[in-house]
Amino acid sequence: MKLTRRSFLSSSIAAAATMATGNALSFFKDTGADHRGISTPSVPTDGRPILIQGATILSMDSKTGDFESGDILIEGSKISRISRSITAPGAHVIDGRGRIAIPGFVDTHRHAWEGQLRRINPNSADLMNYIAGTHGSFATKYRPGDMYVGNLITALGAIDAGITTIIDNSHNSRSLDHARSAVDALTDAGIRAVHAPGAPLAGSWDKDRWYDDLAKLKAERFSGKDGLLTMAMMTSPDRDQWAVGRKLGLPLVTEFFGKEMSAMLPAFLRDGLLGPDNIFNHCTDLTEEAWQIIRKAGVQVDVCPRSDTHWALGGGMFGYQAAIDHGIKPGFSVDNESAYSGDMFAEMRAALYLQRSAGQAQRVAKDPHAPAPVRMRELLEAATINGAAVAHLDKITGSLTEGKQADLVLINTNDINLYPSNNALGTVVGAAERSNVETVIIGGRVRKHGGKLVGLDMAKLHRATEESRAYLFKSVGYDKGVLAEDFGLRQ
Ligand SMILES: [Zn+2]
Repeated sequence: MKLTRRSFLSSSIAAAATMATGNALSFFKDTGADHRGISTPSVPTDGRPILIQGATILSMDSKTGDFESGDILIEGSKISRISRSITAPGAHVIDGRGRIAIPGFVDTHRHAWEGQLRRINPNSADLMNYIAGTHGSFATKYRPGDMYVGNLITALGAIDAGITTIIDNSHNSRSLDHARSAVDALTDAGIRAVHAPGAPLAGSWDKDRWYDDLAKLKAERFSGKDGLLTMAMMTSPDRDQWAVGRKLGLPLVTEFFGKEMSAMLPAFLRDGLLGPDNIFNHCTDLTEEAWQIIRKAGVQVDVCPRSDTHWALGGGMFGYQAAIDHGIKPGFSVDNESAYSGDMFAEMRAALYLQRSAGQAQRVAKDPHAPAPVRMRELLEAATINGAAVAHLDKITGSLTEGKQADLVLINTNDINLYPSNNALGTVVGAAERSNVETVIIGGRVRKHGGKLVGLDMAKLHRATEESRAYLFKSVGYDKGVLAEDFGLRQ
């Protein structure tokens, strides 16, 4: 059966309706709004396999290899076969001709709760100014429902742009209900996510209950093995917090940069406190000793091509080359959307030109240590399989591999900005954008089809978002409007 857009949509809407749940409505009582049902994960078929036919395949798996033209068979949540030609009678067929199939992008560090604050402070140039526009102001007023709205906008925007996995660095987890709402939104969006609740930076919150609440959240929402969501803990570089996270079996996510934090690492290493369960964001301006310790301990590293440039955490130059020079393959992360867009295409391009700019300048100056110009494949690896490794999910996602979860993206090269596609990696890394993301599949479920998100009630999303923004803006007295040159408010 051919999967037409019409038949697909009607079946998925019917399926979505039967999946609607109301068990978490009490979490939003303080917002006066019931936001569940804005988006519901869709069931793509009536249990039949999905067959993608005739796509150019960039698998990001050396064993699978790449195909100029190949087929991908999806059964249940998994990729069951990848081959030049597959026959699967009765499967729903998606025409892959003129499309490039890639693994879904993995964004290794996103503060999803900030979704409704998109581009509120675009000229912000340093960390304190970013904090004034988020943590020091709006964040202190967030209700559980606002967490829901922010996370939902972020997750849906990510899926729309082909990001199928995020590590949700949720550093506004003011209470257990705030965390529950963030998780609800990730669930409703249908994204794969590692949810990492973290301490707010300002305002009052349930600090005394934090560790107990983490344990409760884990037992309540993360006790099963299946599903798209796993849990981590967002932490400071702090022995007590790491001990709590490790007792709960949670990976430890830490914003890590600069000489001062670098100087903490020798003692951490000596005391056996560093390992692959540490995930360090940014890693800018680290000392040589710190890089060697990170490598030795197997700490996971992600770098932020735009964020590190925008706000200069550490030295203002992102840590990609430094990581590569130390034998570490970092993931890429968007960080947040308070100043720029949320897509991985922009991260890959920013990384490409930052690395090349620095390297070309060295070459022109005849520096014998100038790094080789980064290549398209390396950038796509960072945005997919290397990110999956950072998230501890590379066994199940990050590449197109038989037996892995079916998390993949089809990019339409017939679109006028991509046609004719003479080089697949060049098309994806150097030219594609969100509007070319035609199909997104996560865990075997089609979440974007025919260039549109499936199962999204946009009118309801607008209403929920307007309510949240109106409340947050009023609460902190923000009235600058869409033509503001600067954020203005002080902490
Ligand atoms: Zn961050």
